[in-house]
Amino acid sequence: MMSPGPINGEHPIARHPIRSARIVGDDGEESVVATVYCPLKERSATVPECESCHRFHALHFDAAARTTSVVCHSGPASRGEERADPPRGVGGPVNPEMPLANIMTRDVVCVRPEITVDAISALLVRHGISGMPVVDAEGRPIGMVSRADVLRAAQERGDTGESERLTLRRDEVPPLDMDQGFHVVEPVKTTARDIMTPVVVQMHESASIRQAASLMAYEGIHRLPVTSDDGKVVGILSSLDVLRWLGRCCGYLIPVARKRA
Ligand code: SF4
Repeated sequence: MMSPGPINGEHPIARHPIRSARIVGDDGEESVVATVYCPLKERSATVPECESCHRFHALHFDAAARTTSVVCHSGPASRGEERADPPRGVGGPVNPEMPLANIMTRDVVCVRPEITVDAISALLVRHGISGMPVVDAEGRPIGMVSRADVLRAAQERGDTGESERLTLRRDEVPPLDMDQGFHVVEPVKTTARDIMTPVVVQMHESASIRQAASLMAYEGIHRLPVTSDDGKVVGILSSLDVLRWLGRCCGYLIPVARKRA
């Protein structure tokens, strides 16, 4: 682990946390895209792009926060840029122009539309999240699925497997020799595409907190997919992320959330 510090007055060294977008397909395969928000370019840059950049200094692993950052000489502070030394946004002025990239949830789990509802449930539980973007083959958001969508699908499906077995006619032969109390549960064929809410709003990572908070309040949504220049998901902004940012601006030391919103 290295300890970054200022190199000179003109181009202070800065630390940019690496974000990861994990896309899970219907076969369980995962692909991960790692990016940082470059304040100079005001867009996402992949880690290999940073490593070949003349301003790149090192990769920095913060064991306490369990985050890895790109450390580079990215010039004078731009709006809301994170510096290496001060804690992230604690006690600073409330700057509603700060880019979403600085406060959004950086490690986002996405799913492809063909993934089943059961697989979505497992992902929600495993990652301790309450919703996730559904993305196309390019990683662009096409919908959102939430715990509520999964519960609604389960309620609409009902326990049909068991009720079918219990209402067998006398002359009907059960397909399996099962003891009393056991029943067959048919595989769930409902997919993310069937239950998702189509994406109607999303925001570029350089958009401001002011814009995002207003849009979320106006649309009545708790999660907003955040995208890069090419339209791919690089993060997700939840209403809790905005509240955490506000609390930190007011001087409260709020730890990184264990559960993502
Ligand atoms: S290394 Fe270069 S591309 Fe990466 S964040 Fe720094 S200035 Fe931007």
